[in-house]
Amino acid sequence: MKPAPFAYAKARSLDHAIALLDGAPEARILAGGQSLMPALNMRLSAPSLLVDINRISELSQITQRNGQLEFGALARHAEAEHSRLVAQLAPLIAKALPHIAHPAIRNRGTIGGSIALADPAAELPACLLALGGEIEIASRAGRRTVAADAFFKGLFETALSPGEIITTIRIPAAQPQDRFGFAELARRHGDYALVGLAAAARAKPRVLRLAYFGVGTTPIRARAAEAALERGDIDAAVAAVASDLDPNGDVHASAAAKRHLAGVLLRRVAAQLSPP
Ligand SMILES: Cc1cc2nc3c(=O)[nH]c(=O)nc-3n(C[C@H](O)[C@H](O)[C@H](O)COP(=O)(O)OP(=O)(O)OC[C@H]3O[C@@H](n4cnc5c(N)ncnc54)[C@H](O)[C@@H]3O)c2cc1C
Repeated sequence: MKPAPFAYAKARSLDHAIALLDGAPEARILAGGQSLMPALNMRLSAPSLLVDINRISELSQITQRNGQLEFGALARHAEAEHSRLVAQLAPLIAKALPHIAHPAIRNRGTIGGSIALADPAAELPACLLALGGEIEIASRAGRRTVAADAFFKGLFETALSPGEIITTIRIPAAQPQDRFGFAELARRHGDYALVGLAAAARAKPRVLRLAYFGVGTTPIRARAAEAALERGDIDAAVAAVASDLDPNGDVHASAAAKRHLAGVLLRRVAAQLSPP
């Protein structure tokens, strides 16, 4: 199929992108295009205007600032995957990135695009939730920051409003005593996960966050399992996951199978969280 007709504009700057979006409520932002272009071709999306942000170089940086690691929304998956800064300060994201699709897609796909799309089976939204990250958003009204906990609202639904653009994704930089765990089960490497788990165990302040993906309409904190794991009771944590999660079955796995796999992943990830 071919996409429905649309207008196209290449933004010269963030302000230009905001101005273009402001005048066209039906506009969509084009970042890596790895999800948007197939959606257009299948006519799942029919925007009046595409605002191409690929030329806005200020959105491409990955930088360390004030104890945080900042990803410009346009940073590509592949750039982050090969970044020493990410390996050092965001080891959870470094663990997750190779699971996203395939190299050709990671060369174009962007961190901001993945967060904005909010696919419930995607790796990065769950990592952001596990890390207690935040999303900076710009629009004609100015800038605002939304915590990851409040950003993912429903199936492909986020706190973004028309006219808003993600500029930066921030996470607290990893400290030497912090531990991170990541595991997913997919039919083939590079496929979206059947079930996945991203985990962060921070030392200062002491906090443990487990974020599942592929088991609901958004990434989901497993709070009862977190409490049990904090007590060091892995069996209780695995049992608690059944009450934390309420997955729907799909063509790949029944709800019961997903619950079981969530427990299997929890044991694997808990092993990664233990000090060496
Ligand atoms: C075959 C295939 C397999 C894949 N497998 C996986 C996988 O296993 N895991 C995974 O996580 N992803 C997977 N993806 C998706 C890939 O990671 C995409 O790159 C990502 O989902 C979207 O990023 P993008 O930059 O391509 O965004 P685009 O496709 O350009 O945009 C996606 C959506 O986000 C909006 N958007 C983009 N940037 C911004 C911004 N800065 N501010 C506000 N809105 C914005 C767009 O308007 C659009 O609605 C796969 C894709 C393909 C084609």
